[in-house]
Amino acid sequence: MDTTPNTKIWTDLDLDAEGKQIGYFRLPLAVHDRSGDDVGYSFEAIPVVTIRNGEGPGVLLMAGSHGNEYEGQIILMKLIRELRAEDVRGRIIILPGANAPAVRADRRNSPLDDGNLNRKFPGDPDGDPTSMIAHLIESELLTRVDYAFDLHSGSLSIEYLPCAVVARPSDPDRMGDALDLLRAFGMPTGMIIEHSTGGNRALIGACRRQNVQHLSTELGGGGGVSRAAIDIAEHGVMRLLHHVGVTRRPLTERPPLDCRLLKRVPSWDYIYAETSERGLFEPFVGLGDRVEAGQTTGLIHFTTAPWREPQPVIAKSGGVILCRRIPARTGLGDCVFVLGKDWTS
Ligand SMILES: [Zn+2]
Repeated sequence: MDTTPNTKIWTDLDLDAEGKQIGYFRLPLAVHDRSGDDVGYSFEAIPVVTIRNGEGPGVLLMAGSHGNEYEGQIILMKLIRELRAEDVRGRIIILPGANAPAVRADRRNSPLDDGNLNRKFPGDPDGDPTSMIAHLIESELLTRVDYAFDLHSGSLSIEYLPCAVVARPSDPDRMGDALDLLRAFGMPTGMIIEHSTGGNRALIGACRRQNVQHLSTELGGGGGVSRAAIDIAEHGVMRLLHHVGVTRRPLTERPPLDCRLLKRVPSWDYIYAETSERGLFEPFVGLGDRVEAGQTTGLIHFTTAPWREPQPVIAKSGGVILCRRIPARTGLGDCVFVLGKDWTS
């Protein structure tokens, strides 16, 4: 792709060429970034790999939309080294560090403009750096593919029960296809989103606009790397690629795990600390555990008055623990657990 009127991001790769190509998208930076740092004339290098072999479906594989979520980045770097053109039917585009400035800075958002890539779609070719990347993804990449698989993990302060996520398609006839993706991915937990948090500004919204089928993941979190999540998800990605027909042979022999389907409860039914004073949260339950309404899910201990009775944190509704708060120090309004409920069509 040469610089086209559509985007100021350039690359030496021909995105439509046959074979395996490795290189960069080059995101031009202004003389000053928004933080006031003098960056001169330079570019930010966004690694990209394209593999094309004849006719077939197109898949975009993405990680590093948030720079400090690591499992997906590692899985895609491994896949980049392993996949050969002869394995592919159609095309695969891999962006292992989509918001490259955030990946470089080891942060959720871009250090250039504090941009959250997953809230910037459809992007803007003349906007801030994160909007330019969003625009590139929606206008140049999603237009070339049928599927987008976007690998996320929890944030620094949140750990997820490893799960794959699909949104309910607007066309009810496509719900079966979305469930088939979850089952092919084969994580023990599949989450169905009725309404995406980021709406039209998230990649899910971009995929809807471009008629691309979307699946994402939440793998671990807390700023670390979960060996168990990588182990399940890397085989899941390989199964997905074969399921949609973009690989000529299965890349893994490992069968999918049975997938329990959940949906998130509304945010007012998450479990929050209701305490006037901050303290240390001692959890009584963990990821994947089932809790009942009224159950004590943990205690807040008050370090400034160690003799004071700790305050129980009670579940308002029942469900499965999908997500937990990482920092121990907890105060009024902090969500300690996010719950899921069994999904029924
Ligand atoms: Zn993320």
